[in-house]
Amino acid sequence: MAVRVFIGIGSNLDEPQEQLRKAVAALNDIRDTRLRRVSGIYVSRPMGPADQADYLNAVAELETELAAHDLLDALQAIEHDQGRRRDGERWHERTLDLDILLYGSQCINDRDLVVPHPGMHNRAFVLYPLQELDADISVPGKGHINALIQQELLGEVLQRLDENLCP
Ligand code: ATP
Ligand code: CA
Ligand code: CA
Ligand code: CA
Repeated sequence: MAVRVFIGIGSNLDEPQEQLRKAVAALNDIRDTRLRRVSGIYVSRPMGPADQADYLNAVAELETELAAHDLLDALQAIEHDQGRRRDGERWHERTLDLDILLYGSQCINDRDLVVPHPGMHNRAFVLYPLQELDADISVPGKGHINALIQQELLGEVLQRLDENLCP
């Protein structure tokens, strides 16, 4: 049965907007998976090491027949194709980061996969684009998107680019 999935997309290296565009096309090319919608592009300050460029972020809504772990493998293959190199340092600059934010309403707690994504409920660059795609969504265990934005972000404003990623 098809599951509705939300993917967080981020880049701050090698023409980020082009990285996002390529990633959205690649998401639609994943087997047994269709791209439904994609949010606008948001600009955010890097987490972790501060000596790196700002990020561009977006969220894509997919429908997939893949199991969550198979989807994660497919996302990591796309990251690798687009030049992501894992150097061990957390939150280091990268050409592409693809995170599974939500996988239907499931909660997953495995060594290599935690869903809902454990950082999503307090990240403006996730919550705003997610709200754009579904203003009535709830994050399992965390609450309604509107409440999360109010509680967690306290009016934090992010620049939204006047560009769209729709293929
Ligand atoms: P963060 O997870 O805080 O956003 P990050 O995206 O920079 O940080 P990565 O280095 O990209 O972290 O990923 C580290 C590991 O996180 C991956 O190898 C993957 O196994 C694991 N992981 C756990 N849950 C998820 C998820 N929901 N989506 C993607 N990766 C996940
Ligand atoms: Ca497809
Ligand atoms: Ca991430
Ligand atoms: Ca990641």
